[in-house]
Amino acid sequence: MNKYTQLLFCAATALSCTLLDSCRTVPITGRTQFIMSSASEENALGLQAFTQERQQHGQSTNATYNAVLKRCASALIAVADEDSFDWQVSVLNSKEQNAFCAPGGKIGVYSGIMDLMNNEAELAFVVAHEIGHAIARHYGERTAWNSVVQAGGEVLKNIDPNSTASALYGPAAQLGITLPFSRRNEYEADEIGMILMARAGYNPNAAIEFWSRFSGGNASSGSMLSGLMRTHPKDADRINAMKEILPRAQEEYAKAATKRGYGSSF
Ligand SMILES: [Zn+2]
Repeated sequence: MNKYTQLLFCAATALSCTLLDSCRTVPITGRTQFIMSSASEENALGLQAFTQERQQHGQSTNATYNAVLKRCASALIAVADEDSFDWQVSVLNSKEQNAFCAPGGKIGVYSGIMDLMNNEAELAFVVAHEIGHAIARHYGERTAWNSVVQAGGEVLKNIDPNSTASALYGPAAQLGITLPFSRRNEYEADEIGMILMARAGYNPNAAIEFWSRFSGGNASSGSMLSGLMRTHPKDADRINAMKEILPRAQEEYAKAATKRGYGSSF
């Protein structure tokens, strides 16, 4: 993104925050963000996208995977502090090595990535990272951001509080539940994810161990995690950023009422 576009986005953010009720504060990180759609509109699309994925792939019949994800997600949901979500959790029957939490708390983990987990705490990080995208409303933010970028200056002239989200969103498929977010949003989801997993009683070291296992430029290890790598680029910067968050996450872990550690191996 060039400087002109960044400047334009900042101007649009400032103007819209002034004119419209379109700003909120991201939980845990405290960042002020700009969103033109409403949470209920995003959540309706999240439900559609989740339903489509479940219809396409079907739910896994692996009893261990289902039990571990249910336990892990329940622990995370309990500390996510998001009462407006109607949470649903599914292991989806697909070789795809990825996971998502669609707006409204619709968590889908593909069996392909369950195969790669060393323990429950690694799963907790992946799920908590995805929950981070949802409670930080990155889906709505991505739409707003893209609209400003694509529309150039036009969006500034056309802001109409009565016709925002419906015009910005396409069908549920375009919600893009496994498309990449911006780098900034990935870092933010890592931060929220590490804090949430720690509050849920999972050892936050597992977050760094999980990513480190698939980093280092080894082609075979990269291809082992092709799905998540496609939407979550690995790099040293990202792991370094996670290491910076670790002391805060360890403090949360120390305070957690229930210690789950690394949880079960499966
Ligand atoms: Zn992500």
